Amino acid sequence: MLRQDLDIAIIGAGPVGGTLALALAARGRRVLLVDRADLPPMEDPAFDGRGYAIAAGCQALFATAGIWDALPFAPCPILDIDVTDGRVGRRPSALKLHFDHKAVGDAFGWIIEARSIRVAINKRLHEAGNVTLRAPATARVVRDGQGADVHVGDEIFRVKLVVAAEGRKSPLRQQAGIRVTKLPYNQSAVIFALAHEKPHNGVALEHFLPGGPFAVLPMTGTTDHPNLSAVVFTERDALAQRLYVMEDAAFMREIAARLGTRLGAFTQIGRRWMHRLEAMYAHRYYAERLVLVGDSAHGVHPIAGQGLNLGLQDVAALVDCLEGAADPGAQPVLARYQATRRPVNMAMLLGMDALDRLFSTNFAPLRLARDLGLAAVNRMPGLKRRFMLTAMGR
Ligand SMILES: Cc1cc2nc3c(=O)[nH]c(=O)nc-3n(C[C@H](O)[C@H](O)[C@H](O)COP(=O)(O)OP(=O)(O)OC[C@H]3O[C@@H](n4cnc5c(N)ncnc54)[C@H](O)[C@@H]3O)c2cc1C
Repeated sequence: MLRQDLDIAIIGAGPVGGTLALALAARGRRVLLVDRADLPPMEDPAFDGRGYAIAAGCQALFATAGIWDALPFAPCPILDIDVTDGRVGRRPSALKLHFDHKAVGDAFGWIIEARSIRVAINKRLHEAGNVTLRAPATARVVRDGQGADVHVGDEIFRVKLVVAAEGRKSPLRQQAGIRVTKLPYNQSAVIFALAHEKPHNGVALEHFLPGGPFAVLPMTGTTDHPNLSAVVFTERDALAQRLYVMEDAAFMREIAARLGTRLGAFTQIGRRWMHRLEAMYAHRYYAERLVLVGDSAHGVHPIAGQGLNLGLQDVAALVDCLEGAADPGAQPVLARYQATRRPVNMAMLLGMDALDRLFSTNFAPLRLARDLGLAAVNRMPGLKRRFMLTAMGR
């Protein structure tokens, strides 16, 4: 048995755990990072068509962790956002909401290809001096009052704090007996990339339909496909299942019925992905010598692309709470992190939930009210600015 003393163990090297490891290592913490998946230092994965919307407020965290400069494909700035309401096969309602980045002086954020984030994080993890990386591997964690033993193969790492960054099904959260509440939506999202004839001009479209939002997010083009967008096509479960396996020509007709002609002719690039949608929140963010971050702590409806942004804000808050702490696993430190993050995450979760329920209805009076609401907000520059700054994570 090999024994080693480190400061913090992070289980899960997804975008949240990976960023946390780099941010803590940059501040001199000795970090163990374990993931059950392989994390190759160099990879050249094929285009997969998924994009993350990263809010402007989270870019600084990526930059200080060294991830931003390592992104292999240029992020695409989101300059404007169009929010429209409608029905499948009809033109959107004329009462719409338009957010222009010039009102806040900066891009709202960026769409970054999922593989680009993965490649950049993995590259930096292998270069980072203070990160002990074990992947593919599983960890057995035994916590006590003073710290935890993390068993990985025939090694034991003694740490002061264990961070669960394992995503929604976090085994560490379950082992600690932290309860979760789930809010099912009976919706699934079909995700893919679309190459189109006309440029998107950095405009993100959020088109609300009774089955769920249809989002078209601007991506950086490639040599073969100069005009590219990432689509998150939300529908009721049964229809989403059919869309996921539908033959291409019929699938393109379903897209045309929702997108209309704003991007000219289009075609799907790469494969389709499907995710069942469900909001989820943990009742506590910490237990003895254990803390939850990212999707291990919360899952929101992807209606406004805020899931990863909340996880990155968790990272920034945890790094801040741990700064200068002699014992990073001490209860007051973890309590301060929970007090900082849980109310904000809960507010976002409930806001996204309300938005989805408000727009996923065909009830005529409610449709009229929300269209009038969109048009009214569109005429209120102060309120619009507040919305924009919130979406930007500021
Ligand atoms: C349809 C859809 C669209 C979305 N779009 C956006 C968007 O545009 N913008 C946005 O900000 N967010 C978006 N999200 C949310 C976003 O995908 C998540 O919030 C984000 O991936 C959470 O990151 P994470 O690192 O916490 O967890 P994950 O990405 O789930 O990573 C968890 C990691 O832990 C590892 N792991 C799990 N269990 C173990 C274990 N026991 N031992 C070791 N390793 C383990 C896994 O291999 C993985 O690497 C979207 C989500 C969905 C479903």
